[in-house]
Amino acid sequence: MFPKLRFTLEQIQDHYARVTPEMVWNSLNGYRHGFFDLLNLLSPEASKDEYRTALRNASTQARRRYYGKAVSIFAPLYISNTCVNSCRYCDFNIHHHAKRKTLTLDEIELECAAIRKHGIDSLLIVAGEDPKHITVDFLCEVGRRLNTLFSCLSLEVAPQSEEDYRRLFAAGFESLICFQETYDQELYKYLHPAGPKSVYEHRVWTQLRAGRAGFRTLGIAFLLGLAPWRIEAASLGAHAFYLMKECYQSRIQFAFPRITPVSGGFIPEHPVDENDLEQMMLAFRIVFPECGMTVSTRESPAFWDSIVQSAADNMSAGSRVTPGGYAVSADKDVSQFTLNDAREPEEIYQAIRKNHQEVVFKNWDSRI
Ligand code: SF4
Repeated sequence: MFPKLRFTLEQIQDHYARVTPEMVWNSLNGYRHGFFDLLNLLSPEASKDEYRTALRNASTQARRRYYGKAVSIFAPLYISNTCVNSCRYCDFNIHHHAKRKTLTLDEIELECAAIRKHGIDSLLIVAGEDPKHITVDFLCEVGRRLNTLFSCLSLEVAPQSEEDYRRLFAAGFESLICFQETYDQELYKYLHPAGPKSVYEHRVWTQLRAGRAGFRTLGIAFLLGLAPWRIEAASLGAHAFYLMKECYQSRIQFAFPRITPVSGGFIPEHPVDENDLEQMMLAFRIVFPECGMTVSTRESPAFWDSIVQSAADNMSAGSRVTPGGYAVSADKDVSQFTLNDAREPEEIYQAIRKNHQEVVFKNWDSRI
């Protein structure tokens, strides 16, 4: 469980089992929502068909209130797939004999030019954990080169110290994503047997360090499929409430990545279907209306098109999950996971507009 959560696993399970229809309706109709409203809306009781339309309506209203018709677009840029960790569910892990590649600064710029052609103005830099090659100095150089090309630069790389986050922020990065993978400390140990990522405590306080260093957006998530999702979602909610208090100047951003097939053959023990995923995203939108929410590149076009109307406000377009995948090389051998949406960015924009929503490439201007 998330370390600051004041309830035990048994108490959370017990609450889920005791949720009544009245509790679900009260949580749906309330204006301000707390931790137990989240549990009520995530509960098995709330998963029944009779609540789904009301859940969708409440979530759509919350989304409209804070985000209107805007759907923000970003692109992930994988700059390296070398990694010293041994996460059992990932094809980039050190034991996997895939071709490895770290892009040079010039190659990164080539990739960026290909992304910019589609109008995309928000970039997420992604890399495996490789302290020799993906150093803070290197990332700062990447930030300095790209911050005039994109109005928003985000990071999804190895967790850093607060001091290093300050340097990265000064270099142009303002947003951070770090998946906790699982909040279950025992399972975490099993899934991350070696490498720097094996230290649960270092990872779980990543957003806190980044928030204190000035990052404007703090992304949190767990990997859906590793552990029972309702228990993990309770921890995710507690994590969000904690960060909203401790880092009140930053915005919290949720993601709900489901495990997709990898060539290493990892089979998730607790698969999450689309119905569960939708319930979770609707519940989080209702309880955290002001927070950002990204729909994962791993989902199908039909799911994307519907969830950006009812809950999510942020999505990627034309994603490649291979270093060099946009322009440098089309090496498909080393993707981190499989994608379910092969649409070109323009097709995605068209689908968004067809649903009477607005494609947004840039949603703020720096005062400096
Ligand atoms: S999940 Fe991240 S840290 Fe773990 S092996 Fe894959 S790239 Fe490395």
